[in-house]
Amino acid sequence: HGATLCLGQRVQGLERISEDPPIFRLTTDREEHYTRTVLIAIGVGAFAPRKLDRPGVREFEGRGVHYFVRDLQHFQGKRILIVGGGDSAVDWALGLEGIAEHITLIHRRDAFRAHEDSVRKLFQSSVVVKPFYEVKELRGDEHLQEALIVHNRTGEEERLEVSEVLFCLGFVADPGPIKDWGLEMDSNGIRVSPRMETNIPGVYAAGDITSHPAKLKLIATAYGEAAIAVNFAKTFIDPSARAFPGHSTEVMAGSRSSQGTGNP
Ligand SMILES: Cc1cc2nc3c(=O)[nH]c(=O)nc-3n(C[C@H](O)[C@H](O)[C@H](O)COP(=O)(O)OP(=O)(O)OC[C@H]3O[C@@H](n4cnc5c(N)ncnc54)[C@H](O)[C@@H]3O)c2cc1C
Repeated sequence: HGATLCLGQRVQGLERISEDPPIFRLTTDREEHYTRTVLIAIGVGAFAPRKLDRPGVREFEGRGVHYFVRDLQHFQGKRILIVGGGDSAVDWALGLEGIAEHITLIHRRDAFRAHEDSVRKLFQSSVVVKPFYEVKELRGDEHLQEALIVHNRTGEEERLEVSEVLFCLGFVADPGPIKDWGLEMDSNGIRVSPRMETNIPGVYAAGDITSHPAKLKLIATAYGEAAIAVNFAKTFIDPSARAFPGHSTEVMAGSRSSQGTGNP
């Protein structure tokens, strides 16, 4: 349909610059776009690692606190604390065994969500596994030097000499800048009408970012919502247009009959 695709751009701002006719300016990290309607389909937004709100954690980010392993060699010969009980925590503990000098893994529970076979290997490895322990505080000077951990049942504290802490606590989704666009949102996303209209006239939403009583976060429903949104956005731009676009089979049948090959 001749749509202009602008890839590799992160949407940042949306501003209505004219009321009649309504025109929006959509800003990305690379350019500005002018449009009569907007369809927001950003999924659950950007994923960011879940961070612990404990003294020293933010302070030592980049100076001993990690959320990803970008380079195995960075951990060569180091004393490491890994925090978490899922696949990432267990896989990295096993992956760094033999590279790091010493690895301790703490988890707030004694049940691991990681793959059963990985957990079995973990308990057979040289990794020191401490269930029911959580990070209480991280300390150091220029770089991280120690972690204070606490047993969440007994309150017993322990000081670990570590220079690196790897947090593997999963990810949180963040819808990012759209939170500041004046959209009505709830904990599930942007509230939409059955026509996929948001509270801002001319702005529609579809897919995982929408919230409505019949919401199912599936590929099929996302496609369906996008079709509804696009067709009603068309009527927003041109109120004389029909929301129902017709069936492609009718178009094909029409072209066949115009070529004289269709059924009478
Ligand atoms: C692990 C997992 C397994 C799943 N398995 C299934 C399954 O088997 N069957 C099924 O039907 N559904 C499944 N789903 C759900 C399905 O993936 C979603 O319902 C579907 O992808 C929603 O489509 P969407 O277009 O709304 O969002 P997405 O597919 O998430 O697309 C959103 C896009 O917007 C981009 N974006 C976000 N923020 C910005 C921004 N500020 N600027 C520019 N771009 C941005 C993102 O990078 C992304 O490309 C699964 C989901 C997960 C997480």
